[in-house]
Amino acid sequence: MAISGYSGFQLVRHALTGHKNWPKAWRDPEPKERYGVIIVGAGGHGLATAYYLAKEHGISNVAVLEKGYLGGGNTGRNTTIVRSNYMMPGNTLFYEKSMQLWEGLSMDLNYNVMFSQRAILNLCHSDAQMDAAAMRGNTMRLNGIDAELLDRNQVREMVPLLDMSDNARFPVYGALCQPRAGTARHDAVAWGYARGADSYGIDIIQNCEVTGFLRDNGRIYGVQTTRGDIRADKVGLAVAGHTSHLAAMAELRLPIESHVLQAFVSEPLKPLIDTVVTFGAGHFYISQSDKGGLVFGGDLDGYNSYAQRGSLPIVEDVISCGLAMMPSLSRLKMLRHWGGVMDMSMDGSPIICKSPIDGLYINGGWCYGGFKATPASGWCFAHTIAQDRPHELNEKFTLSRFERGDQIDEKGAGPVPGHH
Ligand SMILES: Cc1cc2nc3c(=O)[nH]c(=O)nc-3n(C[C@H](O)[C@H](O)[C@H](O)COP(=O)(O)OP(=O)(O)OC[C@H]3O[C@@H](n4cnc5c(N)ncnc54)[C@H](O)[C@@H]3O)c2cc1C
Repeated sequence: MAISGYSGFQLVRHALTGHKNWPKAWRDPEPKERYGVIIVGAGGHGLATAYYLAKEHGISNVAVLEKGYLGGGNTGRNTTIVRSNYMMPGNTLFYEKSMQLWEGLSMDLNYNVMFSQRAILNLCHSDAQMDAAAMRGNTMRLNGIDAELLDRNQVREMVPLLDMSDNARFPVYGALCQPRAGTARHDAVAWGYARGADSYGIDIIQNCEVTGFLRDNGRIYGVQTTRGDIRADKVGLAVAGHTSHLAAMAELRLPIESHVLQAFVSEPLKPLIDTVVTFGAGHFYISQSDKGGLVFGGDLDGYNSYAQRGSLPIVEDVISCGLAMMPSLSRLKMLRHWGGVMDMSMDGSPIICKSPIDGLYINGGWCYGGFKATPASGWCFAHTIAQDRPHELNEKFTLSRFERGDQIDEKGAGPVPGHH
């Protein structure tokens, strides 16, 4: 495949000229006065929405407005785990659609997103957890999704680094494995969608913060921004951890709380772990990046916040879970850690719908797990905005489910405990 959409010949030519003449991958346009659709937030979800609006629905009079730089939010901060091992009706087929889009994404965008299907193992440490894993795996298989229940010996073979000794604090009984799961290069996903959207003529406008909405008789007809007012027939929010903040500007109260989630990366090592592994007795999950760093994370910080920085108690919790699972990590040097702001919905499942306010559409509530959803989230949100009704894959992701008590409670049933 061509590298990032350019031929090998171009790569050599640019190398010989000192890499000074690469064309820009997307334009840097001034905002127009008016668009058909404005998407707020140039993270993976916003950019994917714009791309599919043009590609699937022929709507390219679109602007994506970003308060910082594109991909600077959770898109560029997550631990990049992609899987479709969900169990609740509503989630199962949606995440599998996402998986299928991932499987063709590098070709579709002509941009290498480094999607690596290296399998995920959710470890089980009791008979009850094995039962729950079997139930989840069976649900997946009944929906045509790959799943395998591994016994202790199979796990030992796949992940030799685990503590399988007799005195392990949390003995490993087995694991639920999804072989097609894996990781992708997070910022390449944002860049690939950005270039794709731009090539359809969509304006991506960075350093443009939305500060309010233009309203007439309740209907929204545009946004106020730090670069002036911009009108639009439809406005879609894809702002991840800031969803409730933006909705409040439209006087809409959402069943969402924002929390910080941290991630960590170690010094680079030779190949050590060639799958994704989640601990079943505490909050810890780990994979190895192509650069060699071990990438890992754990639970949310325990307080609400819009600040993109974490706190020390979680560092201690994550490290102690990691050491209980893989004691040899104790000699590892940690390189850096960072935080991102999660929009935690009350049932652990997302919201992709028309809002009760005319002209306003919402994509949010992704909790720990929206990176894997990026392609399907954009695909379904584009459908919802273009057609003014949900696709059947996102028809359960309504706001009204919280009023009706019809929650999609994946939170209690997620692979224990890793929702990532
Ligand atoms: C540490 C960590 C680990 C994670 N691990 C995983 C994982 O392994 N797998 C997984 O599936 N998910 C994971 N997630 C979750 C995932 O990253 C998010 O659910 C997903 O990226 C959210 O969608 P997004 O990419 O569009 O968000 P973002 O990239 O955050 O995009 C939202 C954008 O909106 C912009 N914005 C906000 N307010 C405004 C405004 N007023 N005006 C204009 N722009 C605005 C922001 O600047 C931001 O760029 C993780 C998250 C974190 C933080």
